[in-house]
Amino acid sequence: MQLKDKVAFVTGSASGIGKEIALLYAKEGARVVIADLNKEAADATAAEISASGAQAIGVGVDVTSEEQVDAAVEAAAKAFGSIDILVSNAGIQIVHPVEEFTFAEWKKMLAIHLDGAFLTTKACLKHMYAQGRGGSVIYMGSVHSKEASVMKAPYVTAKHGLIGLCKTVAKEGAKHGVRANVICPGFVRTPLVEKQIPEQARNLGMSEEDVVKKVMLKDSVDGEFTTTDDVARVALLFAAFPTNALTGQSMVVSHGWFMQ
Ligand code: NAD
Repeated sequence: MQLKDKVAFVTGSASGIGKEIALLYAKEGARVVIADLNKEAADATAAEISASGAQAIGVGVDVTSEEQVDAAVEAAAKAFGSIDILVSNAGIQIVHPVEEFTFAEWKKMLAIHLDGAFLTTKACLKHMYAQGRGGSVIYMGSVHSKEASVMKAPYVTAKHGLIGLCKTVAKEGAKHGVRANVICPGFVRTPLVEKQIPEQARNLGMSEEDVVKKVMLKDSVDGEFTTTDDVARVALLFAAFPTNALTGQSMVVSHGWFMQ
């Protein structure tokens, strides 16, 4: 029970990577807030966790809305008494070459990935600082926090930006015992990626099988997808680590696609 009595606020946790993190945190003793745009799916995930004997609540929130984020974090703190861990994970993907991106699509991507990270951080830090027992802020970056791929300009830009936010939060949070780190997964077969496979096949004029083999997994050491479980284990390490020794870092989990 590495997270006994901790409270974790996990965005985008009604699906994919965030859901796996929420399930693992609950198994490790945390009380978990499933914060997602999809309220129905958030409630279903919270119910799944509650059925296993752990504690969770579902909260409907759009991470791009300051009002909604503040209300969701307040509701979570009220329900569980504190906020010890933030996982800023909610995200989407839109793929086009730069010249075909609309300004609205660009702004939407930056709003979800960067504004969402800022707003949830600001709202959760307030509680972590006031509680006086530290905390852990975890950002869901990507290999695209370190590396670029064609057709992903706003995603690559936003994911690189999270590293800057993380390093700043690590420096400011240190005196409060608040650590900040980024997880940088390679391709994980979640709904976000399932949607991209046919889109990329169309854009690149390839078969879907070739998109997986020759684009997504081409540079991994073994041609394997990273799994939600792989990412959740790293999220547990960052959440449970007890000191400021591990802060301001970004860890790549990608079957060797990107080596630093
Ligand atoms: P997913 O589509 O399975 O889950 C994303 C969740 O975020 C969904 O439940 C969705 O409802 C929620 N969401 C979307 N917009 C939101 C908003 N405005 N406010 C609140 N919630 C919102 O995707 P996933 O693959 O699990 O992705 C999770 C995170 O991991 C994203 O930040 C993504 O960029 C990152 N990531 C994914 C991969 C991958 O290969 N799947 C790789 C690296 C990083």
